[in-house]
Amino acid sequence: MGLLEQSVNTVKGIGPKKTKLLARLDINTLEDVLYYFPRDYEIHPKISSINSIKSGEMVSICGKFEGNPKLARKHRGLSILEWTATDGTGQVTCIWFNQPYRARQYNKNVPYYIYGKAIRAYGKIQIQNPIVEEYRPGFHDGGRIEPIYPLVDGLTQKDLRNLTQNILERIEEDIEEDVPEIIIREYGLVGKTYALKTIHYPLNQDTLEEAKRRLIFDELFLMQLALHGQREKRSKAKNGLLIRWNNEDMADFIRKLGYPLTGAQVRVVEEIFRDLNSNVPMNRLVYGDVGSGKTVIAAIALYAAVLGGYQGVLMAPTEILARQHLETLEQLFLGIEIRLALLTGGIPNSEKERIKELLSTGEIHIVVATHAILQDDVEFHRLGLVVTDEQHRFGVRQRATIIQKGNKTPHILVMSATPIPRTMALTLYGDLDISIIDELPPGRKPVKTYHVPSSMRERVYAFIRRQVELGYQAYLVCPLVEESQDIDAESAIKMFNTLRTESLSNLRLGLIHGRMKADEKEEVMKTFQDGDIDVLISTTVIEVGVNVANANLVVIENADRFGLAALHQLRGRVGRSKDQGYCILIADISTENARERMNIMVKTNDGFEISQKDLELRGPGEFLGVKQHGLPQLKIADLIRDVDILNETKDAVEKIMALEDSEYKSTILQRAYNKFNRSMREVVLN
Ligand code: ADP
Ligand code: MG
Repeated sequence: MGLLEQSVNTVKGIGPKKTKLLARLDINTLEDVLYYFPRDYEIHPKISSINSIKSGEMVSICGKFEGNPKLARKHRGLSILEWTATDGTGQVTCIWFNQPYRARQYNKNVPYYIYGKAIRAYGKIQIQNPIVEEYRPGFHDGGRIEPIYPLVDGLTQKDLRNLTQNILERIEEDIEEDVPEIIIREYGLVGKTYALKTIHYPLNQDTLEEAKRRLIFDELFLMQLALHGQREKRSKAKNGLLIRWNNEDMADFIRKLGYPLTGAQVRVVEEIFRDLNSNVPMNRLVYGDVGSGKTVIAAIALYAAVLGGYQGVLMAPTEILARQHLETLEQLFLGIEIRLALLTGGIPNSEKERIKELLSTGEIHIVVATHAILQDDVEFHRLGLVVTDEQHRFGVRQRATIIQKGNKTPHILVMSATPIPRTMALTLYGDLDISIIDELPPGRKPVKTYHVPSSMRERVYAFIRRQVELGYQAYLVCPLVEESQDIDAESAIKMFNTLRTESLSNLRLGLIHGRMKADEKEEVMKTFQDGDIDVLISTTVIEVGVNVANANLVVIENADRFGLAALHQLRGRVGRSKDQGYCILIADISTENARERMNIMVKTNDGFEISQKDLELRGPGEFLGVKQHGLPQLKIADLIRDVDILNETKDAVEKIMALEDSEYKSTILQRAYNKFNRSMREVVLN
């Protein structure tokens, strides 16, 4: 076994307890240790002479201990050890609390490197709890940079430093490169072994930068390579279902929708048809801003699959949305022989069993489902197409599970209103083709958005009353108390009870929150849809997908508690007809960030612009919700900050792929698959 494959418990000082703690940081092998990068560095100053030390500074000195260590015991078991060191120019008193063993650890007449914060007390310079190491000329002179690692309880910086030092010292030969030699040369990268040593113990800022660049390059290169391989594999795979259908029937269906498709919708439908008509499995993302009309595209695609003799699935992230989609499909397929079913967590078990049975015999053509569909015992007769709506709620993992439900690879269509800055889309969805609906249905007016302080709440209620008088309906979204459905529900209930007896007492109010049973929620949504509720007081359960065209006003309480993406989604619940929509953000601003968010909402309705701003305000990690996407977890690269390196790696991957030698190519491709982290492997495998 190679050195790097060895377990951490082979290192001196790492027993079972620390091994366990390290495992919690995903550190199991020595290689994992090397790839556990510092989160920051502690920069030791160059060695100074003791007579030049100023109180309050972090100092490095080189000195010898003199005289005898003095151990004093104070009450309650506190022990204080003092020992004086000198470098010939002056004296420093080193003080340790509760570390009496230090007296035995150091020898007189041996030069030590001593580092810590200098404090002047009783006319002398003291350093409390200094770092003391046997002085090594050269190593200690240059102004050392020490790594600072992210930790868990029970592990110390010292543990990790010992580990990394121990391993780095034992590396004799260079570690195998992940990036081909020609690429290393062409892009002027430093060697991998050097980079790994340097990232933990940089000699100075410049070498640290070089090392970082190399390791970021590695990570992005392997990711790009794996994605590229995945794409290539897919486009070569001929294991897709070739779906054909009767064009007359389809044209008839589209004609009877009740409105002409927008140009953008027509284009996207054509792209989907082309995919369905080929034996390469479709893997397409349809991005369209809120209200751009994605549902009807899903319906058309599903209809094509059914006409072609296959079954289809429409996956929704919430029960409410699933039920709404079922209703929409029922209306669209009115008078057409298509059997639909709903399969969600909320339906009774006996019903579930019945539906599963009918799915396996092929008697149900289209099933609208939430996660319940992912259970292992759901089987299809001839699954041809899987549509997932609002895909950001589904991980890649879940997509992979559903794909396995077909005998052959079914076609996949992913619908999303989560705007992703263009620079990122390709990287994120490297395994998907992308269609964009960049046009709203005709006559839509941008939603007018206002930001008001809470002192104006009564005027907002007056505005709600006026809209209701005009025949419209409204949503009132309660503040996010915390990410707990129960507590959020609590606040919605309270607001409902207050408004019912006070400001909105003469209106018909409805209440919906995550703690209600599925059929209760459905009942409320149906009543709202039918126009029998004027104002729907809700938590964020209505955030995605809900479509009630007559609702033209959404009021968001404590809007500053929501992120831009959520605000944009919530606002997307209105402005779904030709009539003017309104969004009122109630927020008392306490931070600059909150002010920015309110301003951008007031200023623009453009999802792309909002996502760009969101990205700037939140930073990429949080923005992407990496875990939810099931995206590869990057250890050191940052898709936004490192966009230049990202582009270089794309370039590099193309160069490698253009090479003749296919054996060489497949070797390094395999390495990319293997090397890349677990989540990536799942993307690659599906
Ligand atoms: P989203 O893209 O947010 O999922 P929906 O599919 O819910 O949007 O569509 C929003 C509304 O727009 C629906 O009421 C739908 O019937 C309507 N719609 C969709 N396409 C068109 C169109 N081409 N012309 C007019 N209205 C449309
Ligand atoms: Mg939708």
